This record gives sequence, C-alpha cells and structure tokens, in this order.
Amino acid sequence: MQKEMLIQKSKELLWLPFTQMQDYEADPLVIEKGEGVMLYDTEGKSYYDGYSSLWLNVHGHKKKELDDAIKAQLDKVAHTTLLGAANRPAIELAERLVQLTPEKLKRVFYSDSGAEAVEIGLKIAFQYWRNKGFHEKTKFVTVTNGYHGDTVGAISVGAVDIFHTTYKPLMFDSYKIPFPTIYRNEVVDHKEIRDQSLYELEKVLSGNGQEIAAVIMEGMVQGAGGMHIMPEGYLKGVERLCKEYDVLLIVDEVATGFGRTGKMFAVEHEEVEPDIMMIAKGITGGYLPIAATMTTEKIYDAFYADYTELKTFFHGHSYTGNQLGCAVALANLDIFEKDHVIEDVEKKAAFVREQLNSLKSLSHVGDIRQLGLMIGIELVADKQSKQPFPWTKRVGYQTTLKMRELGMLSRPLGDTIVFMPPYASSYEDLKAMIAIMEQAIMEVTSKLSVST
Ligand code: PMP
Repeated sequence: MQKEMLIQKSKELLWLPFTQMQDYEADPLVIEKGEGVMLYDTEGKSYYDGYSSLWLNVHGHKKKELDDAIKAQLDKVAHTTLLGAANRPAIELAERLVQLTPEKLKRVFYSDSGAEAVEIGLKIAFQYWRNKGFHEKTKFVTVTNGYHGDTVGAISVGAVDIFHTTYKPLMFDSYKIPFPTIYRNEVVDHKEIRDQSLYELEKVLSGNGQEIAAVIMEGMVQGAGGMHIMPEGYLKGVERLCKEYDVLLIVDEVATGFGRTGKMFAVEHEEVEPDIMMIAKGITGGYLPIAATMTTEKIYDAFYADYTELKTFFHGHSYTGNQLGCAVALANLDIFEKDHVIEDVEKKAAFVREQLNSLKSLSHVGDIRQLGLMIGIELVADKQSKQPFPWTKRVGYQTTLKMRELGMLSRPLGDTIVFMPPYASSYEDLKAMIAIMEQAIMEVTSKLSVST
C-alpha cells in the first residue's frame, strides 16, 4: 500500500485507543519501523521513542537477542494453550520470575495485558477469602488517582476522573483513600503527608476490615494518574496495616516493574512483600503481550481442592502463556542480567536528573517528578500558585505535538509531559530528548502566555 493510502486508510478504518479521532485525523501518524531508540514513520521521518512505545520497550527496537529468541521459538511452536497443559518457555519464565520477585511470591498466573493481570489479581483476592470461608470479604481499597487499566474490574479500582467518570454506573464500589500527593499539598512535610494518608487507610481498615478483601495500589509511583511518587515509608506503612487488619496487599507493578524506577521492581525501594503482584509491559522488553499475576503459596493453597468444592480459579484467556511471548521474555531477562541493566538505569537516571535542572527554571514548569527513568514534567499556568492551565488549552497535548514536530514521541497525562525513555538510550540520546522537550515547552507555553 502506498504511504498516502496508508494514512488515508488509517483514518477510515482504525479507532485508536485513548485517542480523540478528530485529533488523529488532523495529525495522523503511521509508524513504519524502529531501530534502537528511534522510530520511523511512512515518510521516513525519525523520532526518539521518548515513551518507550507506551512505557514498555526497554532495550530499544530490533534488539538482536530478542528477535533471535522469537525466531528460535518459531522453529519449535508459536502458541499452545495453557489450559490444562504447560509449555517449556512458560515454565522456565515462571522460575525466573519467582526468583526475581519478592521472596513470598511463588506462583505465576499468566495473561496477556496489564489490565488482565489486574482483573486476575482482583478475582484471586476475592475468591481467596471465599474459598477460606470469609464470604463477607468482598471489597477493595484503592487510592485517589490510581490507575490499573481499562477493563471493568480495573476501572472499578481506578480513580482517574477523566478516564473513569463516564463508566461509573458500570463499576463496582470500592473504598477510596487519599493518595499522599506531595505537589499541591498544603502540608509540606513529606512525613506528615505520609502519616495522614496512612491514618486515612487505618480508619477504613479498622472500621470495615471484615468486609475488605484487599488494598490495591501501584508500586511507589502513580503512573497514569500523573507520575506522583509516594513519600518514603508510605508503601511500607500500607504493608504493615494490611497485615495488622488481615487484608491482602496487591501491588500493581505493570508500569513500574522491570527496572523502570531504578530497581527491578518498585517494591524493592521499601522491601515490601505484597501478597499479589501484577507485572506486564517491560516483561518482554516491549515485544509481545505477556503479563503475569504473582501470588503467595498461601493464596494458591486456598484454591487447591477437587472440583466438588468449586475452589478452582475459573479464569483464562486464549493466548495465556504464549510460547513466543514467554521465550522473548526469557531473552529479555538474560539481557537484564548480562548487561547489568538495573545499574545502567540508576546511572542514566542520575544523569537525567541533572540534565532536567535546566527545565526547572522555565516559567511554566511547575514540578518535575522522577523515580529512576519514570519521569513526569508538570506544566502550569502559574508557578507560584501552582495554578493549572485551563484544560481546554490542552497544553500537554500541544507540547507533545510540538515535540513530535521536533523529532520525539510521547503522550502527555493532562499537562504532565511523560518522559519514559528506553533504558538503551545513550547519554547523547537522553540529552537530545531533554533538549527537544525544553524547546517544545518553551515554544508552546510562550505563545500561551501571550494569548492568555
Ligand atoms: N496498571 C498500571 C499501573 C498501568 O500503568 C497500566 C497501563 N499503563 C495498566 C495496569 C494496564 O496495562 P495494559 O495497558 O497492558 O492493559
């Protein structure tokens, strides 16, 4: 198909996720290929992949070891079902995941996306208590601004207004407690912010613990909710309260897992051991849709019985445990080990932190939040008062559109610019991407300052 036709057909036939198609039609983009940290459109124009193709491509595109792993697996078999029959890459990957994740997590339930891994985690937590005879433990506690994917269960425990409000009548109720957000908090002391939020959690657990199955939250950083980082000791405090009130702790590491925050998993920052943990995105280095819900042996045991007791976990997807996906995930983990990727992320994160200093002085950069290579740059109308821009101005969107013109792709979260580079980015690449963001922010916000 000719490139003009591809663009035309993309407008006629596709319905893109999280995209107002009117925007897309005005500025269509068709990606044709990738190489390292660069992506190329049908015109041959190159772009830095500044969002790791939605936070997952960690070693860059066309990574030889990953390509080779898929080709080698293709010579054996592409896919077989995991319903009642295991396969070699799924078993070998499970062993590696159990070794890598916190000690308590011993069982791996595969699926194909982060949201599915979350649905599975919620259903396992719910059924765990039923199987143990606690039928009243049916509710979940989650935090304001949390995000766990887009399926109905996942949005029921999510709380990002713009994504979730429309679907409220479809969702089940869960308890929402305030996330300890630091930016725009009247309280300045991080410890106080942390303790206030923990106090709110304890109030819910002490009053309603008997009907609560689990607390669910992201690991250390709220991603889609705007890149907000938990104050030190918060997640550890949540773990302590969950134990105290006999409630399961579910940590969603879909976005934060596989090195993104500078540790293999974000829970390592506080030595937290969840009862259930979801992983996806970086698990295959951004190649194929594999996800997993990890649980403890104690939870697994509660499902182990004959069919007469209906304790079986009735859940599974056609592509679960896909052999190509598991094979490439294994190769991905080999790269982490061989190339000391976590140490590399730590070094690059320190470099980025220093480089981003130049953005701090820009008049509309309100806050820069960073943990590892997970970064949000919040743009505001007024720095002093932290007043946001009117949302109708779509400053974040305009800025990423300008970045695209300048040769870098990302997607904003409201007016927060997401910077999630592939770990494979060189120091020069990182510098170039920061320069593009700086220029785009300056150009877009200076025009706005004049017109508002
Ligand atoms: N949980 C978190 C924390 C996420 O950030 C995401 C996706 N950004 C999801 C779940 C959903 O993952 P997926 O898009 O693979 O369904």
